[in-house]
Amino acid sequence: MSLGIISHATCRLHEMGATHPEQPARLDAIAERLESSGLEARVSRYEATRVTREQLLAAHDERYIDLVYEHAPEEGLVWLDGDTAMNPHSLAAAEYAAGAAVMGVDLVMQGDVGQVFCPVRPPGHHAVNRGAMGFCIFSNVAIAAYHAINHWQLERVAIVDFDVHHGNGTEDIVSGDDRILFCSSFQHPFYPGTGADTNVPNIVNMPLPAGTDGTGFRQAMTAHCLPRVEQFEPELILVSAGFDAHRADQLAMLNLVEEDYTWITREIVRLAAASAEGRIVSCLEGGYNLQALASSVEAHLEAMIDRE
Ligand SMILES: [Zn+2]
Repeated sequence: MSLGIISHATCRLHEMGATHPEQPARLDAIAERLESSGLEARVSRYEATRVTREQLLAAHDERYIDLVYEHAPEEGLVWLDGDTAMNPHSLAAAEYAAGAAVMGVDLVMQGDVGQVFCPVRPPGHHAVNRGAMGFCIFSNVAIAAYHAINHWQLERVAIVDFDVHHGNGTEDIVSGDDRILFCSSFQHPFYPGTGADTNVPNIVNMPLPAGTDGTGFRQAMTAHCLPRVEQFEPELILVSAGFDAHRADQLAMLNLVEEDYTWITREIVRLAAASAEGRIVSCLEGGYNLQALASSVEAHLEAMIDRE
């Protein structure tokens, strides 16, 4: 079965200012690499549909959803938090970003494709139940997890988040829900400062000191995340695929390289094959060095395609 790529042109139109690191050029860099590497010819392309209000309500407080819709500007920027703004296209981009993740769940559950990657923005893993945060408006991955549970009646969904930042928003939304296992590796201490003290059965946090390289990352994943996912026997694995732990990424201080993204992706593929019929839906989160982002996404997709 093939790899599906789901996005929407509107995700490129969301813009928070010329100097903001979470910029449209990130999607261009990924698209160009898909072409130049030949991957584009080996994937199935899908255009995202918008997330529905009902799907949003499974992860977000109604008052927050209303606030986002009411504050969406017709011109200029409206700031939702110190790092997160909406331009006139941002609400639609956020609807398509979350909608892509939901569609990804539908495609793998229907068996149309084996795995899915969603190169979308805004990202999602810092958006909490009641608020935007850290470049994120809606919690794309948590919304997808609840769609899998509510629409497809899945009983166990695992989320693996290897972005350099703690997935505090995802944790906020799924904490205490034993149908979801959330594993997050992240630089600590670092933005957003959460995660190291969490003590909740369905949350597996892996704080890593600045300077940690692939060896330390693989040790933490092997000791904490991978065995818990295996034991959990998820019927679907969602991935918060941030690539800002790459050593070339200036936003943070971890030292991963492309081979580490190949490694963690192969491990996720192995776990998905064991209990989830191979089903993986991976959503782009961070990754701000355009070269490193493009080559790391390529490594991630190659490892999903090359699963035999
Ligand atoms: Zn990040």
